[in-house]
Amino acid sequence: MVKTLSVAAIKDGTVIDHIPTGAAIIILQLLKLITKRHRVSIGLNLTSASMGFKDLIKIENRFLSEKETHDIAVFAPKSTISTIKNYKLVSKVNAQLPRMVERILVCPNLRCITHSEPVHTLFRVEERRAEVQLKCHFCEQIFERSEIKDYMP
Ligand SMILES: [Zn+2]
Repeated sequence: MVKTLSVAAIKDGTVIDHIPTGAAIIILQLLKLITKRHRVSIGLNLTSASMGFKDLIKIENRFLSEKETHDIAVFAPKSTISTIKNYKLVSKVNAQLPRMVERILVCPNLRCITHSEPVHTLFRVEERRAEVQLKCHFCEQIFERSEIKDYMP
């Protein structure tokens, strides 16, 4: 059976698949892919057997650190991250939620000390009923992932 690829194959790089629709743009900013000169192919609202619709990102000549794969999991907990070398798939892993998220999220509590002191934000991650919840280390408030609107790459 011939499988039609929505986005062309790459020689070396990373494929992030099964991203919830809308989250690809956040991941592009998170990985600073817009400002760096990496060739990136993006598929938005692709049909998916398991998800209905999904986003997909292919990045040429760029491999992800462990922290980056954890950061991606916060926005795309069910995504898969494939590493391609010389057109061959060398690893395929599911994004793993980290226990803590440092820096990238902005605390929605405006009275939180992170808004007035020069400290990096820090959240403890918990998964409850397939929802990602985040507890601020500083003000100890708990937020659903979808409640956190601001983030800094
Ligand atoms: Zn806070």
